[in-house]
Amino acid sequence: MIPIAKPLLGAEEKEAVMRVLESGMLAQGEKVKEFEKAFAEFVGVKHAVATSNGTTALHAALLAHSIGKGDEVITTPFTFIATANAIRMVGATPVFVDIDEKTFNLNPRLLEKAITGNTKAIIPVHLFGQSCEMDKIIKISKKHHLLVIEDACQAHGSSHNNKKVGSFGTGCFSFYPTKNMTTGEGGMITTNDEEIAARARKIISHGQEKKYHHDMMGYNFRMTNIAAAIGLCQLQKLSEFNAQRKTNANFLLEGLKGITGVVIPHVGTDHVFHQFTVRITKKFGKSRDKVADFLKQKGIETSVFYPLPIHKQKSYPEYHTQSFPVAEKAAEEVLSLPVHPGLTLQDGKIIINALRELKNDA
Ligand SMILES: *Cc1c(COP(=O)(O)O)cnc(C)c1O
Repeated sequence: MIPIAKPLLGAEEKEAVMRVLESGMLAQGEKVKEFEKAFAEFVGVKHAVATSNGTTALHAALLAHSIGKGDEVITTPFTFIATANAIRMVGATPVFVDIDEKTFNLNPRLLEKAITGNTKAIIPVHLFGQSCEMDKIIKISKKHHLLVIEDACQAHGSSHNNKKVGSFGTGCFSFYPTKNMTTGEGGMITTNDEEIAARARKIISHGQEKKYHHDMMGYNFRMTNIAAAIGLCQLQKLSEFNAQRKTNANFLLEGLKGITGVVIPHVGTDHVFHQFTVRITKKFGKSRDKVADFLKQKGIETSVFYPLPIHKQKSYPEYHTQSFPVAEKAAEEVLSLPVHPGLTLQDGKIIINALRELKNDA
């Protein structure tokens, strides 16, 4: 089976973890600090705060910006549930704006219509590894005095106009095993704002600055030294991983060109291909789910990110009457194909040939 995702862990990670185990310092400590420093440098920001996962990074970032009850936060309905759930966790209200058909990212041209007197922040999600149109989003945020918290959980190393994602506003990253780099579970908040970094640091550790003196309400959202040790190794390999993803993506883009009913990804800006997501449209002659079944038979694992936009989720009943047609259509058509750095050229050929074979049968 060609898997849809596969973390690449080598001898470096194993040795680094062993060294932490031998040190006996398993919880947050020096390794975490080292990882934070290296990650901040990589993103091009002054501060980074490591967290237990991407969801807690978003949660803590919202709290650090004092977003809560009565505040509206604008985001996309076409994302992993964590983006919207984090907004709810702090008691704020998610407000959805439909996506751009080509990029699957929040459509900045629809953004201003959604802004009200209660809007406090925008969470653009750099979906599938491609940056949102940050120039437009930042311009609108400045005009309306809104905070920008980037959900960069799928876009480590991606950039927009040569500026890395996670450096436009407050950035949130995830290091889950399927992401472009991993720590097992883990997350990171990036910012140039010293005060936000200091608040986030307290929030992830029970509001504590001085030991057992708790200045504010907080949580245990800390990263372990074990995770950080893996993260340091993975960060060193990230550029190589992303280059391989791009190579794989270019191979697929070329090979899938011209198949009627298969819409290949639009690459408008630096894209680190967390996912290689095509649309299977009616013109293909077979449904998206049939295509997924056929590829599975051929030994190719695929995935649908995401089959249900957030406003259609059972856990979001108050949004069920709302309509975001571009997101809804995407949910019906998208299919993500393997593009991870462990993919071989041969795997790529198998994927391309399988889709071409199925099309000829249609
Ligand atoms: C993975 C992901 C998250 C959450 O990260 P976890 O580490 O799984 O908590 C949030 N938003 C997006 C877009 C993601 O892909």
